[in-house]
Amino acid sequence: MQLELKTDLFIAGQWVKGAGSLPVMNPSTGQLIADISTADQEQCDAAVTAAHDAFPAWAKTSPRSRSEILRKAFEIMVAEADQIAQLISMENGKTFSDARGEVIYAAEFFRWFAEEAVRTPGDFRHAPSGDKRILVTHQPIGVSLLITPWNFPAAMATRKLGPALAAGCTVILKAASETPLTALWIVDILQRAGVPAGVVNFIMPEKTGAMVSRMMHDPRVRNLSFTGSTEVGRILLKESADLVLRTSLELGGNAPFVVLEDADIDEAVKGAMIAKMRNGGAACTAANRFIVAESVAAEFTAKLTQSMADLKMADGLSEGAQLGASVSRKERDKIAELVSASVAAGAELKLGGVVPEGDGAFYPATVLAVKSDNPILDHEVFGPVAPIVTFSSDEEAIALANATEYGLIAYVYSQDLKRSIRVAEAIEAGMVAINRGVISDPAAPFGGVKQSGLGREGGFAGIHEFLETKYIGVEI
Ligand code: NAP
Repeated sequence: MQLELKTDLFIAGQWVKGAGSLPVMNPSTGQLIADISTADQEQCDAAVTAAHDAFPAWAKTSPRSRSEILRKAFEIMVAEADQIAQLISMENGKTFSDARGEVIYAAEFFRWFAEEAVRTPGDFRHAPSGDKRILVTHQPIGVSLLITPWNFPAAMATRKLGPALAAGCTVILKAASETPLTALWIVDILQRAGVPAGVVNFIMPEKTGAMVSRMMHDPRVRNLSFTGSTEVGRILLKESADLVLRTSLELGGNAPFVVLEDADIDEAVKGAMIAKMRNGGAACTAANRFIVAESVAAEFTAKLTQSMADLKMADGLSEGAQLGASVSRKERDKIAELVSASVAAGAELKLGGVVPEGDGAFYPATVLAVKSDNPILDHEVFGPVAPIVTFSSDEEAIALANATEYGLIAYVYSQDLKRSIRVAEAIEAGMVAINRGVISDPAAPFGGVKQSGLGREGGFAGIHEFLETKYIGVEI
């Protein structure tokens, strides 16, 4: 279907032509989708001014009215799910079914935070000494800069926009340069849902690093919410120190998928296919290291390899596609290099590993049997590659799972709940899935430990990333 795309900047409630432009490509075909506007310094400053000017009034709106705007945005998004999914598939390369799943997941953040907007808790207590009352309330932080990655162009935007708007913050959204069109569609939805001028602003800076840095050094900006790579997260965390900017970071992952010897292997393979192949493996939550008990490794490897081999790789919008393209040839080439280095270091290639010919940024489903010192285990692969390593005791499995600087999510398969909880508790991760291939849920706190980030998105915690806690001591 023909899509009507927004391609301009959105500042102070107006669609504005940018000082420059940026081509957005379809990675499945290598063709141009659209040129979008990019912002110069003055336009970035204008977005900060708009968000700053709109903040006092927005912060004072009733929680109920903010809630109803978000609820309306949820309804519009669900009604337009097919169009948005088509757009995601075009600019990101993922399959239509993955993209549609993302749209519904993304819309749920608007619904969840519509519900949270009216439930921000406070506290009123007697001081233990009896000399006063302790009143605790929460106030919106202020202008928030939201920066999102390309792998979930809708959900990573709504997971920030939902809580920010529910809390009463105004925002400047900056999407990844590969996938800005989906974010622009969402900004348009918010405008149609009734968000007042200046509350949501969208920019694509001409020079990302320098212009984001300038905004982070503008004292009118009070909060940064970033989702992306650990490498960029580290840079931003350092930058945020200068003005002691409130910062939350959702960064990379290198998820272990642990199969204990008492696991139901068919269920584990089903879960592995979801944990590995959602989004073609381009997910921070993607299972990246399959850590499998020696006694069941042959069966698990054979069944996983067969399931991977059965996948149909094709343009994400074509009939029956199960594995789409990577977001760009550059990203695809990174995957190919990691696999080549892994094979050179002794990995046994069970499936895939060969870059197909053609203009699309495709990489095939790939399975590798590796030793525990193989370099691929140290990297977030971000593609359809499943390295399998074996272990002989639960302690060894836990040590292998924890042998990474990341700590976003882990998966554990076992039919013994007590044992799997013991392993889950010993793994250093912000989230653990037991006998499931996916646990992301707008109603649950999403986030990592170690170098996977700071803070949580979603759940009851999500809105607090956009609220300050204020204590008022009252003489009685
Ligand atoms: P990325 O390269 O870090 O980019 C993410 C965003 O940061 C983009 O909007 C990018 O803009 C911007 N950016 C890049 N350099 C910057 C700088 N110096 N200053 C300010 N902003 C900068 O990540 P990606 O390749 O888009 O996404 C993949 C990564 O995101 C993976 O590591 C994945 O694990 C992680 N991720 C984490 C989560 C989570 O919830 N933990 C969820 C999804 C993805 P430009 O495009 O303009 O460069």
